[in-house]
Amino acid sequence: MPKIYIIDVTNRDGVQTAKLGLSKLEKTMINLYLSEMGVFQSEFGFPTTRHETNYLRANLRLAELGVISPLRLEGWLRAISSDVELGFKMVPGLKHVNLSISTSRQMIDGKFKGKKSRRDIINEMTAAVDTAYRLGAETVGVNAEDASRTDIDYLIEYGQAAKAHGAVRLRYCDTLGYDDPFSIYEAGQALAKGVALPIELHCHGDLGMAVANSVAGARGVIDGGQDAYINTTLNGIGERAGNADLVATVLALTKSKSFAGKYELGQPIDLTKSWKIAKFASYAFGVPIPINQPGVGANAFAHESGIHADGVLKDPHNYELYGFEELGRGDPEMVETGREICAGEYSGISGFSHIMGERMSWHFKDKEEAQEILELVRYANVLSHKPLVEDELLFIARYPHTAKRLLTMTPLGSAEPDPILGTDSRL
Ligand SMILES: [Zn+2]
Repeated sequence: MPKIYIIDVTNRDGVQTAKLGLSKLEKTMINLYLSEMGVFQSEFGFPTTRHETNYLRANLRLAELGVISPLRLEGWLRAISSDVELGFKMVPGLKHVNLSISTSRQMIDGKFKGKKSRRDIINEMTAAVDTAYRLGAETVGVNAEDASRTDIDYLIEYGQAAKAHGAVRLRYCDTLGYDDPFSIYEAGQALAKGVALPIELHCHGDLGMAVANSVAGARGVIDGGQDAYINTTLNGIGERAGNADLVATVLALTKSKSFAGKYELGQPIDLTKSWKIAKFASYAFGVPIPINQPGVGANAFAHESGIHADGVLKDPHNYELYGFEELGRGDPEMVETGREICAGEYSGISGFSHIMGERMSWHFKDKEEAQEILELVRYANVLSHKPLVEDELLFIARYPHTAKRLLTMTPLGSAEPDPILGTDSRL
């Protein structure tokens, strides 16, 4: 029986969310946590975006070194040959990419304004797939943006063309969250049968059904005879009403009435990392976890009413579908209520050594090394505007060269003449 895999898109859909963003170090930590958790792939960024270059290259290097492993790192590109060329030029080590173009009548008429026909869309996409393979891609996934408003016959034709050019997956994007579990089940099954490729489900929560649609779509794909890949984000953060939440999706796949024990994950997901990764994403995005969030919300295992409290004390299974320990909850958390020494952009060596040594038992070789790491920590703080968590401090201490790369963004440092500087000099 085909299986279900998770592709997390926090570092792409999550960071392109209005009013939200992550520092490059935070994006890196998310890749590390996703890898630890057993997620198949992370859509880790935009290879044609200049401020991502160092981050993308540094993360590919971490993958090469086995620090980020077995997680696959995949870049998102528009399905335009010139973009693919630029992406591979800026990030030469790229191995996995997803190429995206709109396929619906609404987008073809409303966005491309009659400049592209349906045939043009397919031709551009297949040319982009060819370019990616020519430049060294190992796997290319092809995205149909606004797939849920695209007629299924055209989508199948689009998918078949992608397959003929070597694409390994077709991403069905419910870009506007328009699907429901019944419609996406049918679409998933039709595509799996019609295209005969694994299908990705990319769902949004505009109608409150992102997780439900993801699992229903996956089931349709499996019933159509292919592996299903669900796109998730941490805490469901994504464009507008967000995407399918990673933890809730895995819970639905492993605990729900007709999935538990019947449908299999292609790679086991370690749910005990849920608490840590959800808390980190909340801190990094600056967005609190809703108290009623599945699995990781403050109230997910809270009972007050007499009958429920009595019932759960007698046997947790009376009122809980799964245990809090399964999500990695239950350990006491240290909250400093007295004197606190933080590492920030103006920290000095004494406070910093205290934090690393006393709190985290990390000891530097000598004063020079401590000074060098502190300098990097200061820069990381300038970029994130909040105290770094222990894992971030340890990451910088372990991989100072990688950290330095992640923290380096020099728009004026390129060899090309800078248009902004040119304008300023005329003032
Ligand atoms: Zn999206």
